[in-house]
Amino acid sequence: MPKTKIQIVILGSLPPGCSRQALLEWKSNLFEISPEIPTFQLNQNATGHDWEYTDQQIEGFLRQTFDCDILLIVVRVRLQDNWYLRRLSCNRLLFTFFELDQILHFHNIPLNNIILRVLYAGVLIYLRCAKQIPPSSEGTLYAHDETRGCLFDMNPNKWDVIQSLHQPSLCESCVAQHREAQVSEEQLRLAAKELKNIKRPLVDQIVRFVKAHTACSIIVSLIVALLIGTASSLIAIYLNGVL
Ligand SMILES: [Zn+2]
Repeated sequence: MPKTKIQIVILGSLPPGCSRQALLEWKSNLFEISPEIPTFQLNQNATGHDWEYTDQQIEGFLRQTFDCDILLIVVRVRLQDNWYLRRLSCNRLLFTFFELDQILHFHNIPLNNIILRVLYAGVLIYLRCAKQIPPSSEGTLYAHDETRGCLFDMNPNKWDVIQSLHQPSLCESCVAQHREAQVSEEQLRLAAKELKNIKRPLVDQIVRFVKAHTACSIIVSLIVALLIGTASSLIAIYLNGVL
């Protein structure tokens, strides 16, 4: 099964905490990320009425072409309609960290998680649309308004995005739509399997577990402390006997 070729470019700068290296090291059998992530200056001001960069402005700004199936352009500025992902022409996706970086920092979620989420969603749209991602100007029904922890949650309230940044899923309705659009069972299984690897950091998972199960955590801590104490005593008795 050929992998979808992804090229990532940065327009402007990345927010602190976003790691290019971690993106390049991501292992996927569904797509491959080009080993270089170039940066270009964003030396124009926004032309939108609400200080947003319009699709038209970005379309005309990045003229360089790349050998890839999907180009992901990453920025930090406000985009049209204050969306965090816009679909441009020629299989180009425009993603912004605007406001999202603060939301993710607040919830201790790695910034790379949102980029990976966008990549998996982009690749699945690419596959279901016969390798031609329609631009945002074309009305589509890929996303659903209800937040389900799914790749295709609409997230009109940006804070809802955190629901799909720890082991995001493909809901039954989205799976059915992709099957109908002839995305193969193998590709869907692969996506579902790899999405489980998009996680919160382990430490954060432990803290959340302890907060959610305080009594259980205290009991487990006491049992562990008791076991360690018993084991230490036994070792001391053994060493005394040997020495
Ligand atoms: Zn869904």
